[in-house]
This record gives sequence, structure tokens and C-alpha cells, in this order.
Amino acid sequence: MTVYKNVVCPFCGCLCDDLEVVVEEGRITDTKNACAVSRSKFLNHAKDRAKPYLRKNGQLTEVALGEALERAVGILKRADFPLIYGLSSTETDAQRLAIELAEMIGASIDNTSSVCHGPTILAAQDCGAVKCTLGEVKNRADLVIFWGCNPAEAHIRHPTRYSVTPKGLFTQEGKKNRTIVHVDVRETKTSRMADLFVKVKPGRDYELLSTLRTAVKGYEVGDVAGVPSKTIRELAEKMKECKFGVIYFGLGLTMSSGRHMNVDVALRLVRDLNDHTKFTINPMRGHFNVTGANDVMTWTTGYPYSVNFSRGYPNYNPGEFSAVDLLARGECDAALVIASDPVAHFSAQASKHLARIPTIVIDPKISATSLLAEVVIPSALVGIECDGTAYRMDGVPLRLKKVVDSDFLPDREILEKIIEGLRA
Ligand code: SF4
Repeated sequence: MTVYKNVVCPFCGCLCDDLEVVVEEGRITDTKNACAVSRSKFLNHAKDRAKPYLRKNGQLTEVALGEALERAVGILKRADFPLIYGLSSTETDAQRLAIELAEMIGASIDNTSSVCHGPTILAAQDCGAVKCTLGEVKNRADLVIFWGCNPAEAHIRHPTRYSVTPKGLFTQEGKKNRTIVHVDVRETKTSRMADLFVKVKPGRDYELLSTLRTAVKGYEVGDVAGVPSKTIRELAEKMKECKFGVIYFGLGLTMSSGRHMNVDVALRLVRDLNDHTKFTINPMRGHFNVTGANDVMTWTTGYPYSVNFSRGYPNYNPGEFSAVDLLARGECDAALVIASDPVAHFSAQASKHLARIPTIVIDPKISATSLLAEVVIPSALVGIECDGTAYRMDGVPLRLKKVVDSDFLPDREILEKIIEGLRA
């Protein structure tokens, strides 16, 4: 029996790095410190695995890996306007190689942030963002605001490890040293942890944030977005009076009406608050390495997502080169999906186009996208069956461990083989 310590969890953007994984006779038999979803990922890693498949006479048929790779190379070689998409659940070397491949074949390349925190990036490009690490929140934050997110169910250990109950350098009594506020359109499990729940009308976050800016500047405010003026004034005072405040926000801001403008006004509110105290704002990133996908694309192409190489150099234009838009307009003629399941998340129109064109899927598990693919290439599970680097939601890179052997190739080796095939 081997016990691997300080294992980094490859599930959500928290990248908890204190897991213990017990391996007996090559099988994972137990985990410690993992939340329920993480434990399930480790214990069930061998279930529902993909195999090398090709579509023959309309059916996915198991073939040798070499045959699947050869077909993938042929599809990419013939394509005039291919798309590479996904990358948020793989490691940084695979992300780098996917970008190299995109440049080589003149593809558009996009990651899943275009349908989650893309608006956050646009807003930060517009006006900058005062950010901090999870460790700073644990050690210093006495006011934590969750806005349009539900960490109690989506980032399960975030509240206990970083933001609500942990004891830190200046928060030695844990929750007693912190005020927790939850702003959302409905009560969730996160509201139950909060000292104050503020119910905002759906799609009215921009107005509430703008009004908070007005209150922070000391002007009179009225009832806005279903929130009484008294609550707005009290929240503005709490924000100004805290020693170290933080707003964590989720898709309730980025994917509701207003999108990047919601985030823009939230970033400006935090900038205003820094006239009074220390205040920061951070996105709750979902997939374990979606932050890495943005960072790797930025340090290789200059842009974080929605990049097109058809002119031989990187062009950035969300909306024009985002995967969902390219597919919905029926513009791309082949797709390579890496470590992602767009059919489960994209519009029906975009998914239908994926079914029409030759789609290659590289994924450890069977997914909705692989069921309509022309080629399926199985890969090793990053952080369990192969190592690699991932970026935590606050931009801190951490090393993922390999804890069991497998017969599957890591994404990076599959991409190297495809690149070699195209060169040949
Ligand atoms: S909170 Fe996220 S990173 Fe931490 S153990 Fe759970 S799934 Fe893994």
C-alpha cells in the first residue's frame, strides 16, 4: 500500500493541495481531505473510459490507437478553417502544444472561458483588477462577499480552506473574525453560511453594483434591484469599514444580462473602496486549469482566448473567434476538442454543427461530444494517471501528481503525435 501525500486535486479551480491518496495494488482505494466530488473523481477514475474509436457506417467502432491518430491527422490536414477547443481540464504542456498545433494548421483556438469567465477577462482588460491569492484571504480577510456564486456546492472546500472558517494570521478565530455576505438571485446553501443575504432581482446586478458605488462615495441612494436603500447603505458601510475585504464572483455576474459590464462595475467598485481600505476581487474559476488555459494562451499568443491563426499570426476577437459563435454560424469545417464536453454546454445550433463536421475528441471519458465525434482518442486523467502543471483560480501554479499507472497516453503525448503526423 502506498499513501501519496500533498496530492493536488484535479477537479475545481481551488486545486486543494493537501489530499492524501491511498493506492493498493495499482488501484486507488481511499482518499483523505478530498471533498465528495473530488473523492468520487479519484475512486471512479477507471469507470466510463473512452477507447480509440472511429465512426464507421454511422457507428463508433473500436480501432487501434494508431488508426485513430492517423484519421485525426488526415482530418486536420484537409481542413480549411479548423477549430481547436477545450483545454481547461488538462495541464499546461498540453495547452502549449494545442496552441502550437493551432498555429501550424491556421486554426481558431478557444478555451472554455469563452462561455464562463470570458467577460471577466474583457472587464479586467478594460479597467484592471485588484486581485489577491487565496492565502491572503485566509490570513487577512474580515469581510468576504460571494456575489452570483455558490461555493458551498460548487467549490466545496473554498469556505472551509480559504474564505469562511479557516484560522489565519490576522483571523485567528476563524469565522468569528469574518463577516460573510451573499448576494444572489435566490437563497442557496451559501446563504446559510452568510451573516447577510442580499436578494437581487435577476439581471439587475449592474444597477445594484452602480448604486453601491454611489453609496460608497457618500451620496444618497434609493431602493434598487429589489434591495432596500437601508441594506445598500449598510453594505457600503461594511465595505468601507473592513480591514481587508474581498468579493468572489461567479457566473451569476458573467453570464447574466450585462455580462462584462457587470464585472466592469464590480471592478470599479473595488477600485473606489481602495480609497478607504484594502479591498480585492477574484473570479471563482470552475475547471481545475481554466486559469492555466488563459495564462498559457496569453504567454504564447498575447491573448487569453478566442484566437485565430488563419492569417499566420494570432488574431483575437471574442464573438468572432469564440468556439460557440464559430460553430453556430457554421464556419469551421473540422474540430478538435481536448478535455472538454461542448455538446453538454453549447447551444443546440452549435452542437448540431459539431455533429455535421468531422470532430476529433481527446478525452479520458466518454462524453456527450464523443458520442457524435468521428474520431475519439482516449487520454490519461491529468493529476491521477499523469503529472503536469495547473494554475489555481488565483493564478498560482501547482504541480499535479501521477498516483497510478495507466495504459493511456497523456494529452501532451497525443498532441505531439498529431503534430509529428502533420509534419510528416
Ligand atoms: S474543493 Fe475543488 S479542488 Fe478542493 S477537493 Fe473539492 S473539488 Fe477538489
